[in-house]
Amino acid sequence: MKKIPLLFSIIIPLFFIFGEENTKLPDGFIWPVGGDSIETKLSSLFGESRGDHFHNGVDVSSDNEKVSAIENGTIIYSHYKSDNPFENESGSGNNVWILHANDILSAYYHLKDGRSSEILEKHNIKKGDFIGKTGNTGHSSGSHLHFVIATNQGRKIINPLTILPKVKDTRPPTIGSLILTIGKNKTYINDGDSFNSSNNFPITVDIADAGERKGQRRGIKYIQFMVNNKVYKESNFDELSLSNGIWKNESGLTFNDLFFENNYYIGNLKFLSGDNTISIKAIDFSNNKTEKAFTFYVNKIQKK
Ligand SMILES: [Zn+2]
Repeated sequence: MKKIPLLFSIIIPLFFIFGEENTKLPDGFIWPVGGDSIETKLSSLFGESRGDHFHNGVDVSSDNEKVSAIENGTIIYSHYKSDNPFENESGSGNNVWILHANDILSAYYHLKDGRSSEILEKHNIKKGDFIGKTGNTGHSSGSHLHFVIATNQGRKIINPLTILPKVKDTRPPTIGSLILTIGKNKTYINDGDSFNSSNNFPITVDIADAGERKGQRRGIKYIQFMVNNKVYKESNFDELSLSNGIWKNESGLTFNDLFFENNYYIGNLKFLSGDNTISIKAIDFSNNKTEKAFTFYVNKIQKK
């Protein structure tokens, strides 16, 4: 899933005909796939790192299962490899887009080959109607549904978890060590450590949302970093908006503000000589909260 801005730039012009912006969210959506075991199948969340961009939807592990429309709507776009067997496969693979009331769009990626005839014939679609089957087409490693909800002609992407039925998640996020990156070397900093520093280096931290299934590592909805008792960075992931070609979340943060080498990026920090404290708060989409504070001693050395 690498080509989101490009994909939207193709699709956005199609949406201008659908009139004025209305951001009121209707209720009554259903999950497109996953059913009763959605909490163990939800493998990837909104706002995670995908190397150089934000993950703009949620992933549900699933193979060859029915994908359903989340609400009544109109199929406005679908693209299958078979439409043009000679083109390079797009990151989204076979995909279908539905426009719902109030300018809400839903998109279903990586569908199995073989477009259902209903997609072409039936313009209007009802909640629960068959869209396709889960597959592994496009940039996908393992069968899953990548599912996107957008509005504002595709220029605002909404965290699906804010409008789809609640998913059980009883396990709080995990917060690992701080990581100081100097060139190719990584130094792990734990509470009580001390180190010498001659310069500012990127500090990151490994945070993951432990899901209901063992070994699950998912993205975090809310993060706050405090440095020496002052809020340094705060990030919430309910939506991503496109402005001047750059995606930002509602805290105004870009991908590079929030991620560095696949870990959450605290910053390029100027430490005080002596004790410094970094406090981290992480909240997952079910409001499970984990807090961790690191106090470490910095011995400032002169730069040669
Ligand atoms: Zn995905």
